Amino acid sequence: MSKALKTGGEVDSYCTKCKMILNHRIIAMVGTTPVRVECSTCNSHHNYRPRMPGEKSSPTASGTGRSSPTPRVAKETRAAQAERERTQSWEKSIAGKALKDFRPYRISERFNEGDLLRHSKFGDGVVLRVIDAGKVEVLFKDDTRTLAQGIGA
Ligand SMILES: [Zn+2]
Repeated sequence: MSKALKTGGEVDSYCTKCKMILNHRIIAMVGTTPVRVECSTCNSHHNYRPRMPGEKSSPTASGTGRSSPTPRVAKETRAAQAERERTQSWEKSIAGKALKDFRPYRISERFNEGDLLRHSKFGDGVVLRVIDAGKVEVLFKDDTRTLAQGIGA
């Protein structure tokens, strides 16, 4: 038996007053999930709780038996986290710097670690490290890029 849940419909929920899984009437739903329910036994209104508090995850024998996984906010991926940290360190490096502190990036220029530069396409950046005489790693707002330097100087 699988009936679609809807406002005014019935659902098994834990009652905070009766302290049991009991039949409830759905008062409010968000999407397909009941959020507020009314206990058919004691008529109290409370939030929908598909399980007993503290219960791990044993589906009740009675009722719909439908397990409703609690929606979880997607955990920040490692890449997203690195991305955020990079943007933060970029902002820190750029913050409060005057326009004159930025050197226009030219392939013929040579840069040192910590130098601020302005790239015609990528915008403001800070030199993270000098890879070798011909290459620098530059942190831009949207990405870290390896740029050539000292070419034809
Ligand atoms: Zn109740």
